[in-house]
Amino acid sequence: MDSHGARVDVVVIGAGQAGLAVAHYLRRAGLPSREPGSVATRGGFVVLDDAPAPGGAWRYRWDSLRVQDAHGVHELPGMSMPPLEPDERASVALPRYFAAYERAFELPVIRPVRVGAVRDVGGPGGLLAVETDHGEWLTRAVVNATGTWQKPFWPSLPGCETFAGRQLHTHDFQTAGDFRGRHVVVIGGGTSAVQLLLQIAEITTTTWVTRRRPEFLARSFDEEWGRAVVAAVDARTRAGLPPESVVGVTGLPLTEEFQRGIDCGVLAPLPMFARIVPDGVVWGPRDAPPAPAPAPAHLAAGVLLWATGFRAGLNHLAPLHLRVHGGGIVMDGTQVVADPRLQLVGYGPSASTIGASRGGREAVRNLRRLLPF
Ligand code: FAD
Repeated sequence: MDSHGARVDVVVIGAGQAGLAVAHYLRRAGLPSREPGSVATRGGFVVLDDAPAPGGAWRYRWDSLRVQDAHGVHELPGMSMPPLEPDERASVALPRYFAAYERAFELPVIRPVRVGAVRDVGGPGGLLAVETDHGEWLTRAVVNATGTWQKPFWPSLPGCETFAGRQLHTHDFQTAGDFRGRHVVVIGGGTSAVQLLLQIAEITTTTWVTRRRPEFLARSFDEEWGRAVVAAVDARTRAGLPPESVVGVTGLPLTEEFQRGIDCGVLAPLPMFARIVPDGVVWGPRDAPPAPAPAPAHLAAGVLLWATGFRAGLNHLAPLHLRVHGGGIVMDGTQVVADPRLQLVGYGPSASTIGASRGGREAVRNLRRLLPF
């Protein structure tokens, strides 16, 4: 495929939950889709996705993540999710639904196409060039929906490179069986850390380490809670700060499973250690935590599992210089304040399956104001 010079009204980057929702609303608004090969045509929209098949980040979730562990997965707009077996792998069940969705709405997803850079080629109000490994698209607007999966976050700690055991991020976790016979330190205070600790503790010994003491809240995640999260993250992105993790804003819901983990001592967090040494981790005198769970000065470990989250994958937008002093991008909902030709969906307050669907609708509404169609 060579689409060099293809010109469209909108390029959507990414075909996960956010990108597909945007594509759905663009289609509903009457914007024609541009199929691969329609190079000579002008106008319309395409979705460029670097994955080999549908499913967004769900394709890559670890095998032990079952449908029942994926909580509150919201359906894509306009098509109900078929009943899923709670025991089925999320990495199989959700991509199947996404594939059916792309087919049902005949969405113009072109894959695998990796976007390397987006550049301004036409001054304010002019065109953007979307550079890919399959040529260049010229467009009047870009909706970025590239998610976070490709940017796992590893905090940097002294001694990191000296560790003789295995270090990995949740991004690369496969199965707890890989750790048999080794002591595993899980670092991170989010849902992934907690879910993985409970699995790994069935196979081997574990220690949980968090920067902030996790707060378990005895209520289920409801609409009011969801609204509070969105409002808190929205306030950060409006101020140009990097979006925070949902758990950082809300705490963890205390499910029966998590309560059992607390009761049996698996979910007993220690504070963050100060250093990594070849055979484990070390706390400094000032990190010593208060009771009830005092940290040892040195803990021998064979595995460090970093469940420290992900960051927005936006490197390809760097040529547009959108980041401000606070480290984030100043947003008004899904719209980049500095350049209304750009919408970010799945970023900040829309970084959830429900948020992605809502964000898709908002982005298309904004684009219709910018380029009437
Ligand atoms: P993604 O699904 O990551 O899709 C992005 C797409 O863009 C991918 O197809 C990728 O290949 C493509 N792409 C990326 N970069 C480029 C590029 N440069 N060029 C071209 N294509 C590119 N949310 C929930 O609401 N409920 C849950 O239960 C839940 N569980 C989660 C569990 C884990 C372990 C994690 C990490 C997240 C979870 N989330 C959950 C958050 C969830 O991932 C998001 O809500 C949602 O799935 C993200 O959708 P997205 O479309 O923004 O990103």
